[in-house]
Amino acid sequence: MVMKYLREGMPKTVSTSEIPLLFHEPHIEEGYRQSGLPWVYYISSLFQMHNETINVWTHLLGFVMCVYNLLSFQEKYDLIEDPYMWPLVAGYAGMSAMFLFSACAHLMANTSDVVHYTGFGVDYAGLSLYGVGSVILHFNYTVHHSAKGSFIHENSAPIGAILAIFVCICGCVSKFRYSRPYPFQRKLWIIIPVGLVFILVEIPILHRLYLFLVHRIHDESLLHHVGHMTFFIVAAVFFGSHIPERWYPGKFDLIGHSHQIFHVFIILVAVEQTNALKIDIFNQRKHGHHHVNESSFLHTFGVVLIVLLADICSVYYFHRCVKERERKSK
Ligand SMILES: [Zn+2]
Repeated sequence: MVMKYLREGMPKTVSTSEIPLLFHEPHIEEGYRQSGLPWVYYISSLFQMHNETINVWTHLLGFVMCVYNLLSFQEKYDLIEDPYMWPLVAGYAGMSAMFLFSACAHLMANTSDVVHYTGFGVDYAGLSLYGVGSVILHFNYTVHHSAKGSFIHENSAPIGAILAIFVCICGCVSKFRYSRPYPFQRKLWIIIPVGLVFILVEIPILHRLYLFLVHRIHDESLLHHVGHMTFFIVAAVFFGSHIPERWYPGKFDLIGHSHQIFHVFIILVAVEQTNALKIDIFNQRKHGHHHVNESSFLHTFGVVLIVLLADICSVYYFHRCVKERERKSK
């Protein structure tokens, strides 16, 4: 079937006037895939130029890179037998899920109303897993040894898990409650929970930044950490502002719109996180600042699995609500 589309050509892309309002993206006028076509078309459309193509490919690339980065640690460390490396594997599992879920959601986004909504739910679940994964990574490998044993260090996993679950729930609520064109309040439903996870993730880095600036404590990987924080903020600005298509509607429909730039910056965040972690893990081991028994299964894979389970329940409930509303509206 995929070959049929590749051989015989894809259905043509259309403009906003030919698709339901639900699929309209702000300031994007052309290049939409038609909705209601067979699933196999949307999978084949990976090889067609439309306004989601680059969104899909960027995060597929992110997923491959993430797996590659994790495996690159294998050269020096035993990722399975050594419990010290479990937070790394759990963290990268969350990161990889975010890239993969996002690519799938963008690929299937125009299939139907229900798939569109559910796809968004899956995308938020990915974001939630990335959040908890980053909490695990940062609180295991980047916390300065002087902050170990503090309240936030001891309780980062449950706090991170609760906040991450809220990312998924709030994302789904925002999508269900509001319809296009979206009001600003909808953005707050996403910005607030994601912002709280971001603050938690960055607490160990801000502490190290403080030690560097005030106490002049040498910090080898700080520049990479500041790099990933900066890239995340830039990504959020593009995500929220719809620049540059806001200034030139219709000019960036296929290439160069804000969501694509947002995806690229999220990849850069992951790259800088990896660069920093390589240094931090090496130094922590060298100086013996990490105790092997700190990494238990529950605090690493267990936390990711709990968040995954809660996300599956949230997205499934959201999916049922959307289906019920569709049924009533017919
Ligand atoms: Zn996206």
